[in-house]
Amino acid sequence: MNLDSEAHIQRIYAQGAAALVRLFHRLTDNIEDLQAQLIRSPQPVIALLSNELTTVKSTLARKTAALMRERQLNHQLLRRLRELEREVEGGDQQPVQRDSHNSSLPPSLDPPWRKTPRTSSLRKNSGRQPGGQFGHRGTTLKQVTQPDEIIIHAPLACTSCATSLPHDEATTRIRRQVFDISDGRVKVTEHQAEARRCAACAIVTKANFPLGVRAPVQDGTGVLSRSTYLYLYQLLPVARTSETMRDLFACSISAATIQRASRISSGKLVNTEQRIKAAIRDSAVSGVDETGLRVAGSGGYIHLASTEGLTHYARRRTPGHSGDGRDRHPPAVHRHAGPGWLLFLPVV
Ligand SMILES: [Zn+2]
Repeated sequence: MNLDSEAHIQRIYAQGAAALVRLFHRLTDNIEDLQAQLIRSPQPVIALLSNELTTVKSTLARKTAALMRERQLNHQLLRRLRELEREVEGGDQQPVQRDSHNSSLPPSLDPPWRKTPRTSSLRKNSGRQPGGQFGHRGTTLKQVTQPDEIIIHAPLACTSCATSLPHDEATTRIRRQVFDISDGRVKVTEHQAEARRCAACAIVTKANFPLGVRAPVQDGTGVLSRSTYLYLYQLLPVARTSETMRDLFACSISAATIQRASRISSGKLVNTEQRIKAAIRDSAVSGVDETGLRVAGSGGYIHLASTEGLTHYARRRTPGHSGDGRDRHPPAVHRHAGPGWLLFLPVV
């Protein structure tokens, strides 16, 4: 049905009562015609409506997919924002005043209230020797002189003139070592990337390291995945995770590395998390709960939302969010199924 536009109706209204009555009669006739048509032959109308329904459904599916992508992006951005907030927490919250001390401005332009530069540290002497203290076992990885395995990566041909590069033309080798767990112990694999000079054009071509071998010394995926498993799945505190890795695999891994590995894993699972949240949100019935906890001295809440097969945990500063976004469209809520449990029932 093609209803008149609002502007058109406004114009007719301005013309007076008679014009309005004419419009009303015309619309009534239209409705009667359509009703008659529907009774005579409903098929074209059904086909028309069915087509429209298909279009609406496909539009909805497209919009839902776009919304999911937006949510994933939003989630990643929020996570990054929280990381950055944590980094600046405790630091100087004021904007930094630029002066000769921290920029290229000359001292003559320094504001009069600028502090006289201190010439010695404000820290009190702790009475200890600098560096690692006695009994502290350092965890920084260093290259070993005798790795378990050495893999040489050689450039095959000159990047400039494509002449093949014979082995005796090696000029330098860059060494990178990966510490990984194999057969229950740490094994060091050294990758040596050769640089060879071309006999024809004298250009030096460097070989590439394998994908993921980026630092002079690094932990392999076996070390990082085991520490992440112990830390996040077995819920060991970070120091205990480090201790367990040392006791089980003689593997030295720092708390910072364990936490970095868990953040990397977490980042890789953003899409999975979004899908779990969406499935819980779309389920007819789900259970939600929350409990208080303290993290690094500050309070917060763990929010849980689950269905029979899925569970989603989220940490929030405030109570009253189910963690899966349902709180924004609360259906009928009833306390059911035991103490401390809320059961969401769909609104019928
Ligand atoms: Zn060449």
